[in-house]
Amino acid sequence: MDFRIGFGYDAHRLTEGRALILCGVEIPYEKGLLGHSDADAALHALMDAMLGAAALGDIGKHFPDTDEKYRGASSAELLKRVNALLAENGFAVNNADVCIVAQSPKLAPYIDEMKNTVAQTLNVSPDAISIKATTTEKMGFEGRGEGISAYAVCSIVSNKEKK
Ligand code: MG
Repeated sequence: MDFRIGFGYDAHRLTEGRALILCGVEIPYEKGLLGHSDADAALHALMDAMLGAAALGDIGKHFPDTDEKYRGASSAELLKRVNALLAENGFAVNNADVCIVAQSPKLAPYIDEMKNTVAQTLNVSPDAISIKATTTEKMGFEGRGEGISAYAVCSIVSNKEKK
């Protein structure tokens, strides 16, 4: 059995007039994340972790932000496609751990819904998915409320015969 780990990171700017979507869940807030897609930094970090584990490039390669077809794209839909891409290459997600860095809003009330949304999208058990949130004690761009970042690690398994 081939066992691999991948890592991903992403950050987007907070701005008025956008919905705040994290891990596929819309969170009521006065600002949202700015980006070509729905700018779900948490799912972007997770997708890069999955692609990284499988050594299949990154989301910029698969879903370029210069491509009009990804304008306003649902990152949950893209996550489904990344999961399918892994499956085509003989890999399945074993577990994932996502850490969202935001000074506000408080994300604790939404963590369970995020976890269930990600688990359903990836077709894995919710106990294989961990979502965490932290502040930076008002330090840095997240702490000043300029943006939200996210880190993710993901382990995947493969049953492919070693070549
Ligand atoms: Mg991004």
